[in-house]
Parts: sequence; structure tokens; C-alpha cells
Amino acid sequence: MLSAEQRRHFIKLSLLGLGCLANPSLSALAAGKSSLAAKKVIVVGAGVSGLAAAQQLKSAGAQVLVLEAKDRIGGRLWTDRSLGTPFEMGAGWLHGPVGNPLTELLQQVSARRFVTDDDSLRVYRENGKQVREVELLQLWSNFSEMMRAVDRRLSVQDLDISLAQALLQLDLKKSQPELLNWALSAFTEFDTGSDIATMSAYYFDEDLSFKGADEVLPNGFDALLQPLAAAVDIKLEQKVRQISYGDNTVTVTTERASFNADYVIVTLPLGVLKKASVNFNPPLPRQQQLLIDKIGMGNVTKVGLLYERCFWPIETQYFGYMSRIKGQFPYFMNSKTFSDKDLLVGICVGGYAWEIEQKSDAQISREVTEILRRMFGNNVPEPKKIIVSRWSMDPCSYGAYSYSAVGTTAEDFNLFNQAQHKRLLFAGEHTQFDYHGTVHGAYLSGVAAVKRLAELVTVA
Ligand SMILES: Cc1cc2nc3c(=O)[nH]c(=O)nc-3n(C[C@H](O)[C@H](O)[C@H](O)COP(=O)(O)OP(=O)(O)OC[C@H]3O[C@@H](n4cnc5c(N)ncnc54)[C@H](O)[C@@H]3O)c2cc1C
Repeated sequence: MLSAEQRRHFIKLSLLGLGCLANPSLSALAAGKSSLAAKKVIVVGAGVSGLAAAQQLKSAGAQVLVLEAKDRIGGRLWTDRSLGTPFEMGAGWLHGPVGNPLTELLQQVSARRFVTDDDSLRVYRENGKQVREVELLQLWSNFSEMMRAVDRRLSVQDLDISLAQALLQLDLKKSQPELLNWALSAFTEFDTGSDIATMSAYYFDEDLSFKGADEVLPNGFDALLQPLAAAVDIKLEQKVRQISYGDNTVTVTTERASFNADYVIVTLPLGVLKKASVNFNPPLPRQQQLLIDKIGMGNVTKVGLLYERCFWPIETQYFGYMSRIKGQFPYFMNSKTFSDKDLLVGICVGGYAWEIEQKSDAQISREVTEILRRMFGNNVPEPKKIIVSRWSMDPCSYGAYSYSAVGTTAEDFNLFNQAQHKRLLFAGEHTQFDYHGTVHGAYLSGVAAVKRLAELVTVA
């Protein structure tokens, strides 16, 4: 069976250029040391991109202040412990630890890491019958061929279309549609955080990944925040309302106070920028606004289910479920492989992620229990505790992560950090294409924003 890394990039058999993105931090610092010294910089948002930027600025001798709306740091990297065990509401996997700049940071704090075995997977049909191994192998082969066929078609047409539209142009008679639908949800929609109806058939899988099997952090991914936040001046519960930028200064106004600085690095999530809940004065240049409108903000819902006793095959890492409702719990992760708690993590993707977040915890508990009973028998109890991430309803994110919507190009993401105004810069997972939608992408974007700022300051 193919590994998840291979599945995620079915048709990108060679991920060329992986080594070409060296961690730019050292060169950024070298370039910025003199130019940024004693400059006052405000960073809006204490997610991974904001904290990475703050660390870089600090090392370059700048005076940094981070303003964060919530009462915690981390943003979409959020380890909740209300179930009595770490549960990742947002980012859960360190994708590709080899060459990944986060690996070193996690080593610095001796964070425990566990390799999740992507080949350890059982998939169940809607009636609860398990899909045979031979059928799964056939599925990978069909899926792979299907994606190659999409590529062949796109190579002779100019117009970008959605992946769903591209699939409609194919002859899929020989495939089992329910299996293919499941694979599209479980891999493509989960990976991109979007729906096949809205993602670009050209760009949805053109991003890059680091090498190595994915890992989880059994004691919490938030260990990463420790080195990133060390000795940084962070003000919590400072929800930014307005960012004014002029020729000589910037003023950032929160619900509580106003702060002046020489520069501002804005790491507001794309969903927040789309809602225009923070006012820019003067308004953002038209080109910047176009990027905000074009790039997609997707959603993924995580449901933590804590039980008295494990009722599922204890050694299997992942369970797939082929619901007729696309995006409804295509994937469950078994946390029992690395934890002593009986925790399952259910995942909803695509359009259904937005839908399920409107339901109450009690409704979701009933819904998921019905599914788990089909998979594991009628004795499955309701969970002892349930927790549901609702990123679509969070006013500090309005969604999970960015994706290539139809008509968006890689350049659109990359243009985000090409500052249009020398005092106003952007960072965040959505401001670079290669690793968008990831924690390491967020980190690299923060580093890149400081490098860009150092260049601007040097030129000025
Ligand atoms: C469900 C889910 C699963 C994911 N799974 C993975 C995974 O397995 N692996 C992976 O690598 N990545 C994963 N990601 C993506 C990853 O979490 C993000 O790409 C990354 O954390 C984004 O970091 P950021 O700094 O760009 O944004 P954020 O972390 O969102 O930081 C932005 C900060 O700005 C703050 N803010 C918002 N509005 C205001 C305001 N008005 N004033 C002040 N502050 C404000 C926010 O509270 C937040 O702290 C997942 C994300 C989600 C939601």
C-alpha cells in the first residue's frame, strides 16, 4: 500500500526541488542585523508565523511587540487538554520531519515524537463491511490513474476548472465510485482543507512537502511554542481593530489601546482578512485585496471522542469510513497507539466540515456514534466526553487553512509577502505557496517576512 506521503502526491512522483528551500533564517538575520537594530516592529497575531517573525526580529536587534486577540498563543496550533489528554484542535501532524525547520525546534525542547503508520489503515463501507486489502490496492491504482488522466486533460486546455469538474470529464465507469469518493475526501480534501468542487484542478497538489513519515506529538504539538515564544513581548487579549500605516509610522489599534511602531507584520489568517474585520487605513492596495478575495480559505473539523474503554482494533492507526455524505468522517485516528487514553479523533472535510460545525456537540455525538456502530458493532457506547473544533466559527480564523481555489495560481500566494507598502508586511501560512496550509509553512513565512523587511529597511 502506498504511504500517505505518496498518496498525498499521487501524481507528483518526483517532488523536485525539495532541497532548494533552505531555511532562510540565518541569511535573513545576517542581512537584517544592522538595518533592523532598534527598529520598533509590531507583529499582529501570536500564531506560529507571528512568533517566528518575532524571534527573527529579536535576533536582529529590533524592538518587537506581538499583539494577540486570544488569551493564548499558538493560533491554529492549539493543544487542548480538557479531555484529560492532549487533543490537537488544529495542527496535529508534523508533516515530513526530514529537513523541516520545526524538527530542530522540537528537538530543542526534547518533545516526544511518534511516527504514525499511514499504512496501518482499515476502511469500512457505509454498511460497516470492511473493504478488502486487494480492493484498497486497486483503489490506489485507480486513483492514481484518475489523477494522471486529469493532468493529461488539463495539459491541453488553458482554462482552470475545479477538480470536481475535471473528474466529470473522465470516463470513470470502471471504478467503484464510492471508493473513489472516499479517497477524494480522505486524501485530497483533507490535505487541501477544501472541497473538490472549489479547488483548482491545476494547483491543488502542486505544493511541496518535506521528506519522512508524518509524526504526532503525544504530549502536545504546543511544545513548539516554547522556543518560539521565549523572551518575546506578547500582549494577549488585544484584538486588533485597525491598522493605520503612513510614510513614517504605523499605529495599531486594539479593543483596549493603541500602539505605535516603525513597521507592522500582519499575520491575520486569510479567513479574517476575507471578513474584513480589521480595518486598514488607508485601505489595502487593490492588488492585495484581489489576492485576499482569490485565494481560498478551507475548513477541516476535528472531533475528539473519549471513551471508558477502547472498542476498536487497538493496533490500527487509522480507520476510514465511506459515508454517502461526502466529507462526513472519512477518517478516524486511533490515539491509543501512542497514548494510554481511549481517544479517537474523527475528521470531517470538504463542504461537510462547514456543515457539521453548525450542529451541537450532542447532535455530533449521536451522529458519530451511529457511524462507529456500523463499523464496530451495536455495543459502541456514546463517548464519555466529546470536543469539536469549530474553526469556521472562530472569529480569529474563519476556517482551517488556505487552498488554491479555481483561478488561483502559486504566484498569488507568493505575492502576498511582496510588500506593497514599506511599513506594512504580511506573513502567515497563506503568504507562500510551497508549504501553505501547514505549520512549517507558517514558520517559514514569518522568517521570510523579516527577511523582506530587512531588505526594505536597507534600501530605504
Ligand atoms: C483543523 C486543522 C488541522 C491542521 N492540521 C495540520 C497538520 O496536521 N499539520 C500542519 O503542519 N498544519 C496543520 N494545520 C495548519 C496549521 O495549523 C496552520 O497552517 C498554521 O498553524 C497557521 O499559522 P499562522 O501563524 O499562519 O496563523 P494562526 O496560527 O492562525 O495565527 C494567527 C494569529 O492571529 C490571531 N488573530 C486573529 N485575529 C486577530 C486580531 N483581530 N487581533 C489580534 N490577533 C488576531 C489569532 O488568534 C492567531 O493567534 C491545521 C489547521 C487546522 C485548523
